[in-house]
Amino acid sequence: MKSVAVYPGSFDPITNGHIDIIQRAAKLFDTLIVAVGCNTRKQVIFNLEERMAMLREVLRDFSNVKIESFTGILVEFAAAKKATVIVRGLRGHADFDSELQLANMNHMMASAIETVFLPASMEFVSISATLVKEIVLLGGDVKAFVPEIVAERLLHRVK
Ligand code: ADP
Repeated sequence: MKSVAVYPGSFDPITNGHIDIIQRAAKLFDTLIVAVGCNTRKQVIFNLEERMAMLREVLRDFSNVKIESFTGILVEFAAAKKATVIVRGLRGHADFDSELQLANMNHMMASAIETVFLPASMEFVSISATLVKEIVLLGGDVKAFVPEIVAERLLHRVK
C-alpha cells in the first residue's frame, strides 16, 4: 500500500524551514500532501490563494508533493485523503509542548493516524514565519530565511 502523509500548517508564508521539512518528509512517504489551513486563528498576511500560489511555485520540482487546502478537523481531512501520517517540524521546547498536545488529541480522535515529528535542521531551527513577517514590517532583509519569490512578495505586500 502506498504511504500518504499530510504536512499541515498556515504557511504564511512558506519559509526555508518548512521547505527543509517538506524535502525530508517527501523522501519518507510515497505522497506528501502539504495542507494549508484556512481556519487559522492567526492573523494572516497572505490569503489562502496567495499562500497556495507561493507553495506551488516553490515546490514545483517535488514530484510526490501535492498542495491542498483544508478547513475543519485535520484528522478528518487526513482520513479523507487516505493519509496515515501527520508530519510536523519541531524547533524546540515551545513547539514540543504544543505539538505533543495536538498530536495526542488528534490521536484520540483518530487512532489510525500517527503524528511523526522531524527535528528542525540546525540551519533552519530559528526561522519562524512570524519573525520573518516582523522583520519585513520593520524594513529588514529576509532573503536568508525564505525563497526569493517569497521575499519579493513580502516586500510588495508591505509597500
Ligand atoms: P502553524 O500554523 O501550525 O503554527 P506553521 O505554518 O508555522 O504552523 O508551520 C507548520 C509546521 O512547520 C509546524 O509543525 C512547525 O513546527 C513547522 N516549522 C515551522 N518553521 C519551521 C522550521 N524553521 N524548521 C522546522 N519546522 C518548522
